[in-house]
Amino acid sequence: MVRVSTLKQNTKTPARSRLTLSPQDRLDFFYKVTNTISSEIDLDRTLPVIIEEVFKTFKPRGASLMVVEGSHVRVVAGRSVTQTPGKPSDLPVFKVGDGVAGRVAVTGNPEWIEDTLDDPRFQKIPGKVSKIRAILAVPLKVKGRVTGVINVTYSEPHHFTDEEIGILQIIAIPAAFAIQNATLFQHIEDEKSKLELIQTSMQGGLTVSKLDGTILFMNDAAHHLYGIRSDVVGISASKIQSNLDRYFNYPLKYDRKNEEVIAEVSAGKTVAVKVGVSSKPPRIIEALYSPLLNKQRVVVGMIGNHRDITELVGQSEQIKTQLISSEAERERWEAIFDNVEEAIVITNKSCEILRSNPAAESLSGLTKKDMLDQEFSSIFNLHNQQGIELSGDLSLGELVTKTREPIEYLEAKLTNAEGRDIWLGLSVSPTLSRQSDRDDMEIIFVMRDVSRLKEIDQAKSDFVSMASHELRTPLTVINGYISLFMSGDLGNIDSPDMVHFRPVFEQIFKSTARLNALVEDLLNVTRIEQGQLSLSLEKMSLDLLVKDVVDEMGAHAKTKNHRLKLESPVTSFLELPPIVKADHPKIKQVMINLIDNAIKYTKPGGEITVQVKKDRKEAIVMVRDTGIGMPKQLLPRIFEKFQRLEGSYVKDSVGTGLGLYIVRELIRAHGGRVWVESQIDKGSTFYFSLPLSRD
Ligand code: ADP
Repeated sequence: MVRVSTLKQNTKTPARSRLTLSPQDRLDFFYKVTNTISSEIDLDRTLPVIIEEVFKTFKPRGASLMVVEGSHVRVVAGRSVTQTPGKPSDLPVFKVGDGVAGRVAVTGNPEWIEDTLDDPRFQKIPGKVSKIRAILAVPLKVKGRVTGVINVTYSEPHHFTDEEIGILQIIAIPAAFAIQNATLFQHIEDEKSKLELIQTSMQGGLTVSKLDGTILFMNDAAHHLYGIRSDVVGISASKIQSNLDRYFNYPLKYDRKNEEVIAEVSAGKTVAVKVGVSSKPPRIIEALYSPLLNKQRVVVGMIGNHRDITELVGQSEQIKTQLISSEAERERWEAIFDNVEEAIVITNKSCEILRSNPAAESLSGLTKKDMLDQEFSSIFNLHNQQGIELSGDLSLGELVTKTREPIEYLEAKLTNAEGRDIWLGLSVSPTLSRQSDRDDMEIIFVMRDVSRLKEIDQAKSDFVSMASHELRTPLTVINGYISLFMSGDLGNIDSPDMVHFRPVFEQIFKSTARLNALVEDLLNVTRIEQGQLSLSLEKMSLDLLVKDVVDEMGAHAKTKNHRLKLESPVTSFLELPPIVKADHPKIKQVMINLIDNAIKYTKPGGEITVQVKKDRKEAIVMVRDTGIGMPKQLLPRIFEKFQRLEGSYVKDSVGTGLGLYIVRELIRAHGGRVWVESQIDKGSTFYFSLPLSRD
């Protein structure tokens, strides 16, 4: 053994080595170490054995084994006199080139220091008091490359003999191989477990097969996907094909022939195969076979990727049927849209026309193309009965966009592009499905030509107007005579020969009064309908008017034993009275109609309460009764003309079905609102509001 050293001898005489090994000892020692190393690949077990043998042989203060990892030398096993063999918890790391071990890692030669005191080559571990006075380090080499360092240390100065250096170098040989083998083994193990992890965690199945179809490898997912009963790896494809029941839990159905797939993959193509698995529920697997190439890029087998596509196929089928049905639905709607009698115009929220149907074309006298993108009100210039433009302050579309409430029905006159005047029944609705998103909102205008109906209505109104005027004169005459007669001006009606006529005259008097009221109602209706309702507005305190009517109607209420009372709301002292600008006789008429109804439709002994309230903008009058009430579904229609509810009690009462219509129209003409709340057998409450006078 050649002794190589860059030793700078110390001046002090170091202690002599106590190590003396006979050639037989050396052989035994070498044999023992080599034996352990070759039978073990676990470094955690081999390294302590090596260190232990070194300890026994050298009796040092400490010994350690290090591996070179890149630019560092890391202690992987060590022992000192104070420690048991194994892996100390805090193993130091040196830089390659630094310290004794670091230098050995670079030079590949043994190095030693016989007394570390004042020897600049000795590098202490920072922050630690070193007890090392002598150190010998030899390299671990594999194929001439330094892979590690083994060293022994003494706490006294020590003279290293050739024998000691030689023995440590002998130990270094199997130690180097042990580390090499273990690292290699570990590397292979790591790779293997990585591969296994990939295979088991792969959701999709993976197979590798020979070109004759024999499967060489199959992962767990593939096993699971195909419901494999008995292992198919290594079994020829033809054998499996001829006995599928034996190898698979469920019958399989392939959409491609095995030979075809093999032929295409052999030609370098990737082939997709669909496999139906008749499990419960059945599943569909998609297998993608691609060529497996060797180093010479020759196809030697097939790699199969398998995945369950049952859900995917199900979803696409569902989407397909949905598409078909929505297409049919769309066609149905198109047909309706194109063929309905009503004109339908759809606009965006800015009221620009997006779509229109043929009926809208004939109504406007323009083509679809002409109407497209035009503003609705520029094509359909609508006026009300009085000739006032409907798109004045706020067009119908703008109103609907703003309130998001539909306009259920409205009549308006259109002068179309051909100069024709057409009366329209019109409804306007925002699209309901997208109401949450104002930007996407569309407005649907549905219009119907009601000119003919209007004409009939007009003729009816004209007739009613003429008839009521004609009736008025004779009625006034009859009324006059009856009044004269009843007053006794035409003779004593209480004389014995006349007395039995009195009830007859009283009946005639009552009936003419009713007839009078009916004629008045009819005249009012005609005036309203012909737009001849004129109001003479004056400023007044609404509560005084209401009080007068309640006082006047008291006697009438008493005939049916009702209690009619004016209830004053809780108001502040300082509160101003509800001043409104109104036509006194007309509002009086409204009050009379409402109180008269309350008296009529309440069984004797009822209670009728009237109240006037005020909020910031309007005065509200309420007339509540404890009467027969009305069914909820009929409430929206109750203010229409000639609406009278069914029922024995209603039938018995006299009425025309015009009173509430007149109430609504009179209040509307004042810019107010009318509404009702009612419950069968509990009673009804009618409300109307009038705007408060601002000056
Ligand atoms: P009518 O001349 O029939 O009273 P109205 O227009 O005043 O005509 O009323 C229409 C219908 O509304 C009545 O026939 C009645 O069925 C119902 N009605 C009106 N007021 C009341 C009320 N206070 N209680 C119950 N039903 C009422």
